Amino acid sequence: MEYQKILDDINAELKRESFGGKVANYIPELAQVDPDKFGIHLSTLDNGDYFIGCNKERFSIQSISKVFALTMAYPMLGEKLWKRVGVEPSGNPFNSLVQLEYESGIPRNPLINAGALVVSDVLVSNLKNPKHDFLRFVQKLAGNSTISYNEKVAESEKDTGYRNVALASLMKSFGNIENLVEEVLDFYFYMCSIEMSCKELSQTFLLYANHGKHFVSKERILNASQSKRLSAILLTCGFYDQAGEFTFKVGLPGKSGVGGGIAAVFPEHYSVAVWSPKLNKAGNSVLGMEVLERLTTKTGLSIF
Ligand code: GLN
Repeated sequence: MEYQKILDDINAELKRESFGGKVANYIPELAQVDPDKFGIHLSTLDNGDYFIGCNKERFSIQSISKVFALTMAYPMLGEKLWKRVGVEPSGNPFNSLVQLEYESGIPRNPLINAGALVVSDVLVSNLKNPKHDFLRFVQKLAGNSTISYNEKVAESEKDTGYRNVALASLMKSFGNIENLVEEVLDFYFYMCSIEMSCKELSQTFLLYANHGKHFVSKERILNASQSKRLSAILLTCGFYDQAGEFTFKVGLPGKSGVGGGIAAVFPEHYSVAVWSPKLNKAGNSVLGMEVLERLTTKTGLSIF
């Protein structure tokens, strides 16, 4: 497959069209990002690397970090995890409160904010130094010890993240948060502030294209069943209330973040990451979705 040519063609097409979208501004620090940044990186399991634009520039991965948190927490609790968080698409915005009230504090899935807060709680309960140990884990997955939190972004979200405070407090009232609400939120905001480039994200996501086995070290991070289940959750829940549309148009499991990143995998073949900060109403990168739709159309390859 001529991935580089396909990416070049997509890039040329996109330059001729104009797309809308707005940079996330509810986290003040994210509003500072240049809206026109754009990068793509595609890594194949046979050692290929193909890219366009700012593929090596780091950005705020935000909710994409929820995938790494789940990757760490799932083997810790095993199937018991699903007693505290579901595996159904929410059909609601990522930070919605309504469902949580009438579903007694059990979030629909681990990729909406409420679910990621439960996963954060699991990590806070099970790790000695939660923020330090989680960062080490992500660095191990990425094979890069320079990956880190952006404290300014974390603190900026801490100052304004009232909906997350509400979600965590509501779940605490139902007994689905074990630790102090402040501790869980502190971990969650730092987790979301991790910065990675498209290249680093795409290489890290090879884990999920490789059925849970680290692509370089060959270490088994998730067993085959856990990896299947995690990818299923990416497919059905990775794009919030637009998960159906992403699957309809792109046909790959993936995850977005309000920093404008999207990472997706074509199992047994490749992983790909795109960064463009302008978001649609669901909080997904407009251009990112466009690139991935064209990629699976032009390659004729998706999981379907
Ligand atoms: N940190 C963001 C929040 O909690 C993450 C949301 C996202 O990327 N969709 O609102």
